[in-house]
Amino acid sequence: MKTRWARAWAVVGIAVGLCVGAYIASQGLPESLLAEPAYAQGAKDAAPSFSPVKALADRDVYYPGSEDLAPDEMRIVACGTGMPNARPKQAAACWLVELGNGDKFIFDIGSGSAERLSAMKIPYDYLDKVFIGHLHSDHFGDLGDLWIGGVIGNRQRPLQVWGPSGAKPEYGTKYACEHMQKMFAWDDASRKGNVNTKGTRLVVTEFDYKGVNQVVYEKNGVTIRTIPAIHAIDGPVSFILEWDGLKFAFSSDTFPNKWWLEHTKGCDIVIHECFAPPSVLIDKQGWPASDALNVGTQVHTSPAQFGKVMSEITPRLAIGYHFFNDFDVAPAVTEMVRKTYDGPFALAVDYMVFNVTKDDIRIRMAVIDEDIWPQPSVTEKLPADPSQKIGFSEFITGGRVPYSDIVDKIYDDINKRYGSDVKAPD
Ligand SMILES: [Zn+2]
Ligand SMILES: [Zn+2]
Repeated sequence: MKTRWARAWAVVGIAVGLCVGAYIASQGLPESLLAEPAYAQGAKDAAPSFSPVKALADRDVYYPGSEDLAPDEMRIVACGTGMPNARPKQAAACWLVELGNGDKFIFDIGSGSAERLSAMKIPYDYLDKVFIGHLHSDHFGDLGDLWIGGVIGNRQRPLQVWGPSGAKPEYGTKYACEHMQKMFAWDDASRKGNVNTKGTRLVVTEFDYKGVNQVVYEKNGVTIRTIPAIHAIDGPVSFILEWDGLKFAFSSDTFPNKWWLEHTKGCDIVIHECFAPPSVLIDKQGWPASDALNVGTQVHTSPAQFGKVMSEITPRLAIGYHFFNDFDVAPAVTEMVRKTYDGPFALAVDYMVFNVTKDDIRIRMAVIDEDIWPQPSVTEKLPADPSQKIGFSEFITGGRVPYSDIVDKIYDDINKRYGSDVKAPD
């Protein structure tokens, strides 16, 4: 029955449409549709065109690589705001801090974040300083990608890493980086003689995790200090960066603690973990209540604890991260934060951008180009050193099918097109 009625109404609709169309065709468009729009009346010369060619006003988004920083300005980009488990929407912990003096610092480099960093369209030469708060994979899991990615992606400088010691040497940053290099032994060997490996050098500075307000970096007007963090076992730290009268603090992961309350008071920007509430861990992930409560309020800082911390240190802007910021989670997190804090705060998602000066904090989203390629290096990209080449065994070489006529032609074409003189191997 329904179908028959629907068909009947469709026929009526088409008939009415045809009649109206026929009427307009015979009479022309009604006067009301042709009249000058009200906003243009009386201002004919300045009237907007119906076919504008000028760009519209700023859409209040950030296009990476398109904006200079003012000499007194700090830009912070959320390159990872998620949780320990990887997911497409949010990489794990990573924050890029760019300063008006040209310096750039990466705080934590969790799983998935190397991709976000590349979307900022910054040559790898400038992404050479990484500060790691602790050695959980969601805070340093993409270090290998930035390190090796930089070797292929045009970084011509060593990658420098700062990170804490641990209660035992094997829990420290040095040990982690040395063994990461060992893990990449084949990768490292395979690139020798095929690309220039200048960027393979890794310079690690390990500092005492118990240092309180300890200076770990001081250069070019920038001071970076650490304070101990309380998270899972001994070793984690939080960072405080000071430059040109601006103060930035990043918790990495921590339970609320006395060092944070003492040393981050009155900061301009504080980024502090605000972990998924225990109820969310139970409902979404099926955790037992005992684990959800322990992880959500003892190992990490829950939203209500986050709010309490912020109400004690009163930053210009508090930024909460380290939860899956979804439509059904954000309202619950906001409600819990508001129970203990009534100041300004933002709940971060990846690609949120904060421009900070003494007078203003502007929050936008970055619009990124997914078709990103590595940016050309800022110094000359050197060719591979053939003397480093390890090559193949006789067994593997014996399996090659060279298609020499095809490859020789590619060499000829490239030499002609780019004026080079590279000989195809025999
Ligand atoms: Zn952690
Ligand atoms: Zn974490």
